[in-house]
Amino acid sequence: MNRDQARALDAADPLAPLRSQFVLPDGVIYLDGNSLGALPRATPAAIADAAERQWGDRLIRSWNEGWIDAPQRLGAAIAPLIGAGQSEVIVGDSTSANLFKLLVAALRIDPARRAIVSETGNFPTDLHIAEGAIGCVDGATLNAVPRGALLDALGDDTAVLMLTHVHYKTGERFDMAALTAAAHAAGALVLWDLSHSTGAVAVDLTGAGADLAVGCTYKYLNGGPGAPAFLYVAERWQDRLASPLSGWMGHAEPFAFADAYRPAPGMTRWLAGTPPILAMTALESGLSLWHDLDRDALWAKSAALFDILAAAGKAHDLTCITPSDPATRGSHISFRHPDAYAITQALIGRGVIGDFRDPDVLRLGLTPLYLSHEDVWRAGEILGEVTATGSWRDPRFAQRLAVT
Ligand SMILES: *Cc1c(COP(=O)(O)O)cnc(C)c1O
Repeated sequence: MNRDQARALDAADPLAPLRSQFVLPDGVIYLDGNSLGALPRATPAAIADAAERQWGDRLIRSWNEGWIDAPQRLGAAIAPLIGAGQSEVIVGDSTSANLFKLLVAALRIDPARRAIVSETGNFPTDLHIAEGAIGCVDGATLNAVPRGALLDALGDDTAVLMLTHVHYKTGERFDMAALTAAAHAAGALVLWDLSHSTGAVAVDLTGAGADLAVGCTYKYLNGGPGAPAFLYVAERWQDRLASPLSGWMGHAEPFAFADAYRPAPGMTRWLAGTPPILAMTALESGLSLWHDLDRDALWAKSAALFDILAAAGKAHDLTCITPSDPATRGSHISFRHPDAYAITQALIGRGVIGDFRDPDVLRLGLTPLYLSHEDVWRAGEILGEVTATGSWRDPRFAQRLAVT
């Protein structure tokens, strides 16, 4: 590919106008939207309105003017992106907290089934939270095994199979329908972490027959740093599971101010405390970009962007660890290199912002909402220059930062 070819693809790209909906600094090619999505242009004004008019002027009246039902409203906006029904998703807390709520609930269904099965090398918080969850339920265990041993690990003591749909490091994607069916055949539930999938690939929880899911909104949904996460419970489970964080916002009648907890019907029971309205305002602004979006065009563009970087990596002998078949990966590309950290820093020094994943992975996120083919082509050129010239050997690129 050359620059003219990349520009021709941009000229024919129906999604190209979306880029102007984002704030992106000059001189930066942002390949980290899989970790912190870019700022939508409309978001600062939305936050200002929430602060100045809704909070400043309307004061507490705003709870009845759209604040109190924000968790349900935002959940309904996310639902079509994950193949869920409008009343199967709610927004609140972090992905970590939501994992905890669902895992403990799943462990409490059947005393004969007290094992969580998961994958070694899963995203750290998923395994850390599972460790915490088993400590809250008598006899519960965590069995994390390599990907290839998952099916054998399922048994008649399995309560829940907890997997991350798209792997944060390699970008590998599980076959959601097949793994869900395997969990069900063993009599277990399945819990999908969709953090690297939502807004990145087509997801169909209903079609797969999935039971439970969580996911992040500050990555491909551009909700802002630490934006509240979502939680999904299939309708058939909603009355049978209850949150261990039995807070008043999940109560059937929070403003009856009763002593005893009584879970609300539907998804509301998964709320614990008062929703963070300023953060939800930013998220709602990010979600508004997904209305009427041609998502199939988005997934196709992600695949085209991938091919551009895959070719650049291949031309410079970089080892790509992300599957080449778009149906089996997410929307980022990862290369393995012993000096991946320094290469990542050298790229950032040249305005190409990607990230490093320990111990040896250079990860480059491909967000078709706001990246052009020319951006990605140019990033591939710079990647080639950095590796070919060895400019990453400069000692300043070896200094580790707190957040990588
Ligand atoms: C980003 C990510 C999270 C983030 O969890 P937080 O509670 O928001 O820190 C969790 N799981 C996976 C798989 C992720 O990629």
